[in-house]
Amino acid sequence: MHTEPAEQFSGPFYLCSEEDGAPVYEGEITSTAGCSQGIISAVSVCDFSSWETPGRYFVSIPGVGGSPVFSVQKEAACDHPAEEILHFFRSQRCGVATPLHGPCHQHDGSKEHPLTGGWHDAGDYLKFVVTTSFVTIEMLSAVLAKNSTETRLAASVLREARVGVEWLLKMTDGYADGRFYYQVGHPDDHRFWRLPEADRTGQEYLRTAYAGWGKNLNGLAIAVFSMAARAFVEDDPDFAACCGTRAEKLWELRDSFPDVQNTTPESFYTQSDSKDSMLLGAVQLYILTGREELLPVVDNLLKTVENYNIGWGNVGFLALITAFEAGIDRSFCTEVLQGCVENLAKVAKRSPFCRASELVWGSSAQIAADAQKILLYEECTGDRTFRSLAIAQVDYLLGANPWGVSFVVGVGCKYPRFAHSQLNDLAGLQRGAVVGGPGLRRDWEKFLSLPAGYTDVYGPYQGAEVFYDWIGDYYTNEVAIDYAVPLLAVFTLLQ
Ligand SMILES: [Zn+2]
Repeated sequence: MHTEPAEQFSGPFYLCSEEDGAPVYEGEITSTAGCSQGIISAVSVCDFSSWETPGRYFVSIPGVGGSPVFSVQKEAACDHPAEEILHFFRSQRCGVATPLHGPCHQHDGSKEHPLTGGWHDAGDYLKFVVTTSFVTIEMLSAVLAKNSTETRLAASVLREARVGVEWLLKMTDGYADGRFYYQVGHPDDHRFWRLPEADRTGQEYLRTAYAGWGKNLNGLAIAVFSMAARAFVEDDPDFAACCGTRAEKLWELRDSFPDVQNTTPESFYTQSDSKDSMLLGAVQLYILTGREELLPVVDNLLKTVENYNIGWGNVGFLALITAFEAGIDRSFCTEVLQGCVENLAKVAKRSPFCRASELVWGSSAQIAADAQKILLYEECTGDRTFRSLAIAQVDYLLGANPWGVSFVVGVGCKYPRFAHSQLNDLAGLQRGAVVGGPGLRRDWEKFLSLPAGYTDVYGPYQGAEVFYDWIGDYYTNEVAIDYAVPLLAVFTLLQ
């Protein structure tokens, strides 16, 4: 970063060995963009991706100076962060001992409907059908997109996905008496900072099971079980068959629910309609069963979905990809998919860091989802025009951003040390956790203000966009299962 005018940054750069300072690689600065974020006034790209010799290096630009020293390593670029993210998911598991906590919440639900299992949602210990379903869909989608569980990574992702599938089977186990559950947790969850195994009061069934269901959740659940029926068919045919049966049951009941069931309180995760999730559910069930009568429903939903994203609030893009794969109206799907990806490229042009979407609460999830969209689009169409844009999103998440920080705990040289996570604070570094990531200052200030005397190590780099490695920051620095899963999907796809 520099204070000189942006146009001065062109010409050669050198990759130099730390040992003797000698240049080992010469390249040209490929682009420079103006930037007004803290003390950063311009961003230049020095691309030395082709240099693979392990060692410790720095980048030198004549007339400007040298960068901090960094290392180039041989280890697989995708395996390491993906394994770390899986470590995060294991630490979020509920009801069992994990490397970071003891057995917890073993009596969730009731004797009639035990709801133990699944993952804690974020830095808190609540459990939601909406986020768990999205996470499980992402995991299964990544495994199925690889079309095999042959790679070690895909096999590990499938194992973790089973945690979500098994818990969702419990949450939807009451179809005989109409008792479906959308959430589990204690209403006072956010009042106490503790390890999850501390939730013991002597009552056998401690945490509230929230009964209720909506088409939004039903579509997601149908998708989960239809995908699980395919993904587990070789490893565990009985389990796969059970999932397939549940998908069919939920489909039969589709008209008996209101359109949307939101969380309690509603502000945690608010959805406005069910079209995208019902579309994904219907297409996945069609792929599983081949039932022709599903096609008119799919076709109708395909044309009425208004937003095509990948996130807990909208799975429209995943639904389009799935429809394409199923051979349904490919010209329509291709046109919409291409429009989505071209739009990402348009937004990225405005960002000095090539970020393809505007900042939101949970930007990390959206940025990874953007990379995932491009990679899925590539697999469908064979068009690799946007590959570098996908990689730029991953780069942004791992450090090519104004703060020079990786938003994945334990990955990279500089990453959040004080994530808003009780486990990270009380039990040790929660490796692989993906924090929310940067937000717009004007949005952040609606929720939070820094405590008096707080020393912000990223102070010089804060501007209209902010990121704080502060334990109290649940906006930019909280961990969450739905933040981590799109990046896991990306690394699985890149493998
Ligand atoms: Zn728990």
